[in-house]
Amino acid sequence: MEKLNKEYKVNKEKCLGCGSCSLSCPEGTEMDTDGKAVVISSAKVEECGGVDLCPYEAIEIENGTDDNEEE
Ligand code: SF4
Repeated sequence: MEKLNKEYKVNKEKCLGCGSCSLSCPEGTEMDTDGKAVVISSAKVEECGGVDLCPYEAIEIENGTDDNEEE
């Protein structure tokens, strides 16, 4: 089986801060100090359903590049 090194990240412009993702997947995402969600574990997000975790399509797959890391 092929193992993809998938990285998930929250698009903060799309995130409404509804908290749904961190409620249903607390090990994968948490709410940041800015009121938006942040991915804390891509592996857990994957287990929780990946991009489907967010009903607003704010959770996106980011592959390879990490030049836009949120601090
Ligand atoms: S479910 Fe989507 S919109 Fe809601 S907090 Fe999570 S990333 Fe943001």
